[in-house]
Amino acid sequence: MTDQQEDIVAAENWDLIIHSLDRLSEGITIIDSEDKLVLYNTQAAEYLGLKRDQIGAGVSLHDLKNTHKNGEFDPGSLLMQQLDASRQGKPQFFERDLDGGRILSVRANPIPGGGVITLYTDITERKAFEKRLIDMATRDELTGLVNRREFFTLAHHEEERAKREGHIVSVMMVDADYFKKVNDTYGHAVGDDVLRDLSENCRKIFRKTDIVGRYGGEEFAIVLPGANEDMAKIIAERLRSSVAESAVKSDQGDVHYTISIGIACATGKDFKIEEVLDRADRALYTAKAQGRNRAVFDTAA
Ligand code: GH3
Ligand code: MG
Ligand code: MG
Repeated sequence: MTDQQEDIVAAENWDLIIHSLDRLSEGITIIDSEDKLVLYNTQAAEYLGLKRDQIGAGVSLHDLKNTHKNGEFDPGSLLMQQLDASRQGKPQFFERDLDGGRILSVRANPIPGGGVITLYTDITERKAFEKRLIDMATRDELTGLVNRREFFTLAHHEEERAKREGHIVSVMMVDADYFKKVNDTYGHAVGDDVLRDLSENCRKIFRKTDIVGRYGGEEFAIVLPGANEDMAKIIAERLRSSVAESAVKSDQGDVHYTISIGIACATGKDFKIEEVLDRADRALYTAKAQGRNRAVFDTAA
């Protein structure tokens, strides 16, 4: 530090500095080379769960840690992580969940010669915005299911997994029957409600590990990892009957609708989503030709 800089942080300026730091929306702490908390502002105190009247600047982090043994949120340990940054001489970036669903970003930068200066930023809004962008890119707006592009991304991941682990994978193509007639009779808005109802039925029937996508207008595609022919037939029948029993409300009374399903499966390295989808699609065509409201298994393989 030059003499001039020494003057700036002279005792009479210290209050001014703290006061200025308290006006920041970010939290800041400085820990010295002896693991002592030498500076923190109000925001940092709040994020770290520190009480101003309980601790004063200059307290050792080791003491602080011991006072929070059983607390859910351990400010000592969050501070201790920064000591690691100081010891390793490498910056550390991490995120922490705070109470009330808030998310904190922590950036700890080592100070040459020892100690660490850390900035704390509440990134809850930014995270929510990022999630909205990701949803917009990957989800179908009408049904909330994954869109066609995301369906293929996830299905290709499953291809890799099946290749590694060798398990069987079933695929279904689902298409609403005479859907043009639903639109023509009840209007497009009711048609949309029917598609939402179909997606709700899918959510009810399929597992979290299944990939359920809106493939096209009134077409849905599903990948069921680990489901063999028998299991897939049972699940398809469950979906078919659940849909056939559901009723969608409209001004002209309850709307009933049905679906047709094509099923195909493949094992391990033979699971190529495009090929299996093609086979499921052919089975779907057969289901339509046989009178609709049914599930047909592809026997071509
Ligand atoms: P099939 O039993 O042979 O499948 O008969 P279909 O009438 O369902 O046949 P097709 O696949 O030709 O018709 C699909 C219709 O779905 C046509 C299109 O207007 C409608 N559709 C596609 N996307 C949407 C949507 O997002 N909302 C609504 N309401 N209708 C849609
Ligand atoms: Mg169709
Ligand atoms: Mg159709």
